[in-house]
Amino acid sequence: MGRAARVFVISGPSGVGKGTLVSRVRDRRPDLGLAVSATTRPPREGEVPDVSYYFMTEERFMALVAEGAFVEWDGHFENRYGTLWSEVNSYLDEGRSVILEIDVKGALNVRKAIPNSVLLFVAPPSLEALEQRLRGRGTESEEKIALRLSRVAWEMDHASLYDATIVNDDLDVAVDQLEKLIERYETDGGTDQDGSH
Ligand code: 5GP
Repeated sequence: MGRAARVFVISGPSGVGKGTLVSRVRDRRPDLGLAVSATTRPPREGEVPDVSYYFMTEERFMALVAEGAFVEWDGHFENRYGTLWSEVNSYLDEGRSVILEIDVKGALNVRKAIPNSVLLFVAPPSLEALEQRLRGRGTESEEKIALRLSRVAWEMDHASLYDATIVNDDLDVAVDQLEKLIERYETDGGTDQDGSH
């Protein structure tokens, strides 16, 4: 059996290092697409429009919702975020797998919309390590950090619904694991699948 392009959803608590992990795997596999999400939140320092996110107004976002343009969308911290079908399909149409970096709730909604999507969870080695990374990032207020941490337990509880979990302790090991998982699901559909897709 050859390789088949798949949708990979990568989740994990904020600060766990998903972004670095994904970018390291894409260095090795430049064919892997990374879906850019749409959001109504303003850009942070250093973020690039149409690369980090499609930044848009509330009005534009809700017009796209009405058109059925989103695979899934949700609100977080008073802003809206969503994954566009056009973004996902642009890669699949080229026979390329695509990675969606979104939270647990969004991931479970993607699985409903795209049943053969693969859900991969990135876990921190410990909660203490995660808290340190969040503070070290220095982009958010203490209040926002506390809000994010309060969600971690809930997110970790849902890891068992995912197809696989990667513990991001040693980055090089985690990159290897993610690359191999992606290859496995592209090649044989994963061993726990029923073979119908
Ligand atoms: P941030 O504002 O820090 O970039 O992201 C805030 C939250 O929005 C994170 O939990 C992130 O995973 C989530 N998020 C980013 N893109 C999407 C998306 O396309 N859909 C959903 N449901 N959540 C998203």
